[in-house]
Amino acid sequence: MATIGIPRALAYYIYFPFWKTYFEELGHEVIESSPTTRDILDKGIKDTVSDACIPIKVFHGHVEDLKNKVDYIFVPRLVSMRKFGDFGTETMCPKFLGLPDMLAASINDLSPVMEARLDLKKGKSELFKVYSELGKRLGADFLLICRAFRRASKIQKDYEQLLQRGIMPDMAMQEVLAGSYKKAALAGREREGANQQARIPKSGLGQAGSPSGDNPCSLAVVGYPYAIYDPYINVGLISALDQAGVRVYTQDMLSHRQLKSQAFKLDKDMFWYFSNRVVQGALYYMDVKPVEGMIHITAFACGPDSIVDKFLEIEAKRRGLPYMAIMIDEHTGEAGMQTRMEAFLDMLEYRRKKRES
Ligand code: SF4
Repeated sequence: MATIGIPRALAYYIYFPFWKTYFEELGHEVIESSPTTRDILDKGIKDTVSDACIPIKVFHGHVEDLKNKVDYIFVPRLVSMRKFGDFGTETMCPKFLGLPDMLAASINDLSPVMEARLDLKKGKSELFKVYSELGKRLGADFLLICRAFRRASKIQKDYEQLLQRGIMPDMAMQEVLAGSYKKAALAGREREGANQQARIPKSGLGQAGSPSGDNPCSLAVVGYPYAIYDPYINVGLISALDQAGVRVYTQDMLSHRQLKSQAFKLDKDMFWYFSNRVVQGALYYMDVKPVEGMIHITAFACGPDSIVDKFLEIEAKRRGLPYMAIMIDEHTGEAGMQTRMEAFLDMLEYRRKKRES
């Protein structure tokens, strides 16, 4: 049995349930790095060039956190995540493509990196092919690999369904991995019911920072999953919004079909997988399931976001939708984030009152 470390960063927020289940079904132990802290970020900053985006710095810090604690660190090389044809020549951001090389070049005495090249635009069978090769490298036989793959795919599907029911990734992961899927699904349905109420404006938002009773404000928070779901990177924005009684919607709460339904609004798809999801999710919340405002969490020095953010700003402006971009880097502080969030909520409340008078 080997111990396999998985850094709690980047694609972790989307694919961890699959990875954990797959390796455990093959008989290995999976260890996640600790939640992001200042110490983890500082280690990542030391390992990377100064103009790298914060998610990449954080990823390096998480790899440092696992160093010498595990037999292997799992770092997939994610090239493309869906079949060629659906989204033209879409790929992952180049930083995902070069991740294992970046680590090898920047961290000394690294535990062996277990790499797997996922280029799913090659076709449906590619995913199984890659994982069966990985399983063989770990000494598993074909039957065990098939069983592990089937089980991991099922858990991943359950996880994605929970996200689409409005459950945040930390809770959804806990539930699917603990096998209490039904309980979480029920909570999701309750939340979905509450969300429908949230879209019916009745009265004021209430004071920013206090729950707004039966008429909560609904906001879309869009951005890359590793930026919006890591509470350290987003400086606690999601929980602060939650405490302020705001209903938060993210692009991961939408199905593939709902996202794809927005693709025709672009003359051309973005080149990058996560950017397409952000743009399509944002358009969905602008036009199909309207929210009262939108926050885009964007990372300083992110190439794809320089296009995505401008595009969202223009589209929101065209529709008269309040829009705020929050750019994060290693210097982003809680007080600054809180102030901007409260000002944004106050402005939404002002708009609501004006509409009603
Ligand atoms: S998409 Fe942007 S934030 Fe994400 S890894 Fe690439 S450069 Fe960094």
